Amino acid sequence: MKQTLPGYDEALARVLARVERLSPARVGLNDALGCVLSADVVADRDQPPFDRSAMDGFALRSGDWEAGATWRIAGDIAAGAQPTGFTGELPKGCTARIATGAPLPDGADVVVPIEQSVVEGDRVSFLVDSMPAWCNVHRRASDAKRGQLVMTRGTRLRPQQVGIGAAVGVCEAEVVPKPRVSLVTTGDEVVDPRTPTDQLKPSQIRNSNSPMVRALLAEMGIGLQSHTHVPDEPEATLAACREALSHSHLVITVGGVSVGQRDYLPSCWQRLGMETILQGVAIQPGRPVLAVVPPEWDDPKLVLGLPGNPVSVLATFHLFVWPVVRRMMGLDPALAWREVTLGHAVKATSKRQVFRFATLDSTGQAQVIPWQGSGDLMHTATATGLVRLPQQDDVPGHTRVPWLGLIGSGATT
Ligand code: AMP
Ligand code: MG
Repeated sequence: MKQTLPGYDEALARVLARVERLSPARVGLNDALGCVLSADVVADRDQPPFDRSAMDGFALRSGDWEAGATWRIAGDIAAGAQPTGFTGELPKGCTARIATGAPLPDGADVVVPIEQSVVEGDRVSFLVDSMPAWCNVHRRASDAKRGQLVMTRGTRLRPQQVGIGAAVGVCEAEVVPKPRVSLVTTGDEVVDPRTPTDQLKPSQIRNSNSPMVRALLAEMGIGLQSHTHVPDEPEATLAACREALSHSHLVITVGGVSVGQRDYLPSCWQRLGMETILQGVAIQPGRPVLAVVPPEWDDPKLVLGLPGNPVSVLATFHLFVWPVVRRMMGLDPALAWREVTLGHAVKATSKRQVFRFATLDSTGQAQVIPWQGSGDLMHTATATGLVRLPQQDDVPGHTRVPWLGLIGSGATT
């Protein structure tokens, strides 16, 4: 009896039901971009740690101010250095040349910017009549007091959060780490993408999926742990799968998951004792998608087998790999689908859920790229999104359809 394949929503739900957030770990700050904090971060000292000049200019006591006065320049204060010319308090009635970022000398409470100063020898007068206390001073602890919370757990580290972490002395952040992801590509006909044209047999194709998967992961801030290409041969496939599984949270395979005689992956995972949670989804492109998990569930591991056609890989990476990685990283796995209007009528099918690559025109309507089959990656070059078409043979123009911005086209990963 022919098995009915699950639809996309059910298939994804089945997969996500077997995916867990990874256990928190300490990750070097420079590698933690995009990760979710699993612990609060507090200031290790007052921020700023001293009353800091916000300008290049002259530090003085606001109380000493007299209209029209000239001030003796008692010394210099460079950023990160002790004052030269005096020690301890700023002498009364005097001023000190000060750099942006330098600590105010004791007694001073204001900085007059250099642009408002007229220097003559060792004296200076100012073009302003007065200035309130603490003007042009970034006061000690005004950003955060020592021990104060500066980032709460659950915050996703964007570049400025990495900067904040560095400012408070976090060398290793406590975060949900990024998954270790490995890739196994398959196929006798698939050769190294660097193979020169004159060395390619007509029946051979370059491995375009492996650099594409690597690039998709790179856009998510994830480096590939390993990539192995295997011929269509069961023992080599088994060895590569076992090896990839041993050091990965997520193994992505490409090709070899369909029903062809030389599609060895499903049987290979079975031989390794894996549990099949998905084998085929009623979608196009990407119908043969496979998902398997190891029987026991100590270290979270998942295998996603994507069909080999590059357009299927691009689509199923978005539809399955992306939400899985987000969940592993402690993010909401729900992708940012939003509704757009279809700019024209398109053919779909009532039998399967059809996804198509598309662009948005100047009015915000989706223009679907004519379907050339799932092997034709060239035609997706201009696509910035995927549309999810209603399950019907003919979809009229102006239908509202879900739209998903592609990874690398401005979408938040
Ligand atoms: P398969 O899923 O193994 O039946 O492969 C489906 C189609 O995708 C075949 O035409 C393969 O030649 C092609 N294909 C498989 N793997 C790759 C790859 N890594 N790069 C480019 N094309 C591939
Ligand atoms: Mg194949």
